[in-house]
Amino acid sequence: MNTHISLRQLFLHHNAQTSTTPLLLEFDHAKGVYLYDKSGKSYMDLISGIGVSNLGHGREEVKRAINEQVERYMHLMVYGEYVLAPQVNLAEKLCSLLPESLSSVYFVNSGSEAVEGALKLAKRYTARTEIISFTDSYHGSTHGALSIMGNETFKSAYRPLLPDVHFINLNVIEQLSRISDKTACVILETVQGEAGIRIPDATYMNQLRKVCDHHGVLLILDEIQCGLGRTGHLFAFQQFKIVPDILLLAKSLGGGMPIGAFISSNKIMAELSDHPILGHITTFGGHPVCCAAGLAALDVLIREKLTDSVEEKSQLFANLLVHPLILEVRRSGLLMAVQFADYEQNKRIIDICIERGLIVDWFLHNSNSMRLSPPLSITQTEIKTACKIIITVLDELLLSMV
Ligand code: PMP
Repeated sequence: MNTHISLRQLFLHHNAQTSTTPLLLEFDHAKGVYLYDKSGKSYMDLISGIGVSNLGHGREEVKRAINEQVERYMHLMVYGEYVLAPQVNLAEKLCSLLPESLSSVYFVNSGSEAVEGALKLAKRYTARTEIISFTDSYHGSTHGALSIMGNETFKSAYRPLLPDVHFINLNVIEQLSRISDKTACVILETVQGEAGIRIPDATYMNQLRKVCDHHGVLLILDEIQCGLGRTGHLFAFQQFKIVPDILLLAKSLGGGMPIGAFISSNKIMAELSDHPILGHITTFGGHPVCCAAGLAALDVLIREKLTDSVEEKSQLFANLLVHPLILEVRRSGLLMAVQFADYEQNKRIIDICIERGLIVDWFLHNSNSMRLSPPLSITQTEIKTACKIIITVLDELLLSMV
């Protein structure tokens, strides 16, 4: 490596950029809710790498499981051929925590891939093509996932995309009449994340389930961001007392390692294995090291009952984040959006918070709101510290406005 050129310059030159304004923070290590740069400056991670680090960073149990699995074996064969204990153990554990009908787990590498697999499965099982999705939804960046994204700005440059995709608005019961005998599936984030935290009404979810059942339509719930404890329920759908036909998980599933899953019944999932065989295949899906990490992370989540304190912590954020500049705090457990007047104000607040050592962010489809989704392991003291910094930033901004 050329030592005269900084890592930042090399990053800008050799690593493909996803925007023209990357954050360019350079971290050395991470522990608990903190990220540390080379100078030792700490940053509190209030977004968990976008819903990944639910347990915080550097959990010993997860690192140990990874190391043990690395010593035993890493990749041996494409997904689905060999009986690999880490895959079996994680699948069995997930199914033991889920309703009986969600009994078959297909492991992939990411959230988008879980979406792709689920869409294919729904088309295959129903022998229909129509997909119904929601405005302001986000399901990933691959072609299929992009096709069902409810925001034209991010899609139009990539058309043509999947045909026969239609959009309805969340919580508008009348629009459920769009679902028919031609529909293969309805796909919905159980709590809409990138929309800026939009929560379905319980009556809406029940009606959605009923309409899907009536027409033989598969209901896919995307819990890639909101699953595994983040909403205060191990699975976000549990609060609505309905069960999806296909459940999607990723992000925090691997305890910091890359893995995704689509989960359904054995009957539905059987469609992918016959006529033709190999209906969905992946080389690295359910990588043994990621599965081992995922199982260790799930064990910690359950043993430490992290989900139980989520609502209390969320309420503490809401109690402390009261300020004339805050128009609204929308929250589903520790998935929270703090609404400001406009994008410029939100951007300014986010930039200053980051300078002061708080990692916060905006939402893809809601640029007026600040994202707060800290590790579930965040303590009450850490929440108070974070909110104090945010309120100070807002006070200074308010003063500068008069
Ligand atoms: N679904 C939801 C709800 C998401 O939030 C995301 C990622 N932000 C995805 C799907 C896509 O996941 P990935 O980036 O792992 O492909």
